[in-house]
Amino acid sequence: MRWGVLKTHNCGDLRVRHVGEEVTLAGWVHRRRDHGGVTFIDLRDRSGVVQIVFHAGVDSDASLTALPGVRNEYVLRVSGEVVERAEETKNPNLGTGDVEVQAATLEVLNEAKTPPFAIVDDVEVDEMLRLQYRYVDLRRPVMQRAIEMRHGTNQYIRNFMTGRGFSEVETPIMVAATPEGARDYLVPSRLRPGAFYALPQSPQQLKQLLMVGGLERYFQIARCFRDEDFRADRQAEFTQLDIEVSFVEEDDILSMLEELFHGLSRALRTDLHVPTPFPRLTYADVMERFGSDKPDLRYDLELSDCSDLVRESGFGVFRGAVEAGGRVRAVVMPGGASLSRKQVDEFTELAKTMGAKGLVSIQFTAPPADATEDDVRSPVLRHIGIETARAIGVRCEAKSGDLVLIAAGPDGVVNTVLDGLRRDIARRLDLADPDVLQFAFITDFPMFEWDADGRRWDALHHPFTAPNAADLPLLDSDPARARARAYDLIASGYELGSGSIRIHQRALQSRVFDLLGIGPEEQEARFGHMLRAFEYGAPPHGGFAVGLDRVVMLLMGVENIREVIAFPKTQSATDPLTGAPSPVTAEQLDELGIRLAVPPS
Ligand code: ASP
Repeated sequence: MRWGVLKTHNCGDLRVRHVGEEVTLAGWVHRRRDHGGVTFIDLRDRSGVVQIVFHAGVDSDASLTALPGVRNEYVLRVSGEVVERAEETKNPNLGTGDVEVQAATLEVLNEAKTPPFAIVDDVEVDEMLRLQYRYVDLRRPVMQRAIEMRHGTNQYIRNFMTGRGFSEVETPIMVAATPEGARDYLVPSRLRPGAFYALPQSPQQLKQLLMVGGLERYFQIARCFRDEDFRADRQAEFTQLDIEVSFVEEDDILSMLEELFHGLSRALRTDLHVPTPFPRLTYADVMERFGSDKPDLRYDLELSDCSDLVRESGFGVFRGAVEAGGRVRAVVMPGGASLSRKQVDEFTELAKTMGAKGLVSIQFTAPPADATEDDVRSPVLRHIGIETARAIGVRCEAKSGDLVLIAAGPDGVVNTVLDGLRRDIARRLDLADPDVLQFAFITDFPMFEWDADGRRWDALHHPFTAPNAADLPLLDSDPARARARAYDLIASGYELGSGSIRIHQRALQSRVFDLLGIGPEEQEARFGHMLRAFEYGAPPHGGFAVGLDRVVMLLMGVENIREVIAFPKTQSATDPLTGAPSPVTAEQLDELGIRLAVPPS
């Protein structure tokens, strides 16, 4: 394939089979070395690097006089013959290491200032500088691989979905608000001053309306926008694989997702082990066993409930927690008995950052079942007594040499703390195999969660999620216990996506809105179009959305989502390259009928 009139070959493609050919290459100066009369330039394009040799003076073309001024990142076009390198100068670490190009002509296509950082994979430089000079940063091979991985992901998905009869439909970016639990980005309307579009938090309502529209199988690689306070693996704008299907139940969707994500990961990371079938675990089960709805299942470290063992305990913190309706649960660090007091305290500090008031430790230097006071080290041994300490050790299946970490309090706090400790222990002990991508589905989420501040129920997934038919009576009697037909896809400790079977009947949708504290007038104003659509033959339907940035992040084996996005935003949703967001002119504001209440920052 010809790469354009300016070059005949890619730098990284040249091999011994090209020896003797006249080639023209174009790319960037990766490195330059001068050895008395001979200059070597490693020329780089997106395919890789090849060595070019310039012999000053000998058989020189006039164009080579430009050579002395050539520096790193200059853009060159070079023609010459491919030759095999002398045996002792071959470089086995380079794909093109057996050959080099003897330059005959040189054209400087552009000059370059000294780059702000080196174009190498493991560059150590402040991320802000990388983002400010993203166009230089993107030249680093690892970034090019990430962008390729994204492209490969999108391509695989499009082929897969098309093969299964799905049509890609573009839904609009300027929409009415779709609630997914975050703040909306708003766009003022000039033609209707005072009115706003929202950027979609997801195409949720529109994809459901496509089902009412008879499309049956929709997908989209959709951009979504959520104005949230940032965490490391979140972006204000992100990309989802968005899916909606008619006439299906949970198993249809989960089976298809399993096939898609198993195939995708195997295609793009042949070196990874991707166990199938993906386990399907209920929300209640994983919260009990791991304290999290996105546990990393590459290792065990299951939690144990010790509440019944300490209910009568002489230790007020434990007894008090149980009396107040909370629980006392524990996680084991294998081999942790050898940790010093100070090292154990690090866990306590970590637990406090996650909302715990404290953390109790027990170290066993004998099998818990027959441990004596001499075999147990714990700051609370005096209060709980050896009997209870033993019972806790046995309950947790701790072994001689293990450390048991115990948290007490309301379930929410204890879950967060033990999930955090479990992940921290796994990190310290290197328990998560980086060569395994462990997917799983979490099912049977609760329908609602109680919002203590707002004193009302919130939809755990979103308000369009169908309740489990068996739990319909609970909607009135005990909403907290009602399960939703909602499911998540998780992988190696991350949530990748969520979906649900939807409500498709007006009466039930209205009832759920009522429960969420959305009265009839607000229902009509915000969701009248959905309610009406359900009156015109809405088919049963359900769907899913997967965060593609995170998928690519896992496939690349990186932990920062910005590493897999060409032009990401910082944690505070700014773009150091273009300066967005930026102030606008007074005229623009006037046209929109907007007056600022605060000066632009
Ligand atoms: N719209 C949902 C989300 O963005 C996914 C879905 O229910 O399909 O999380």
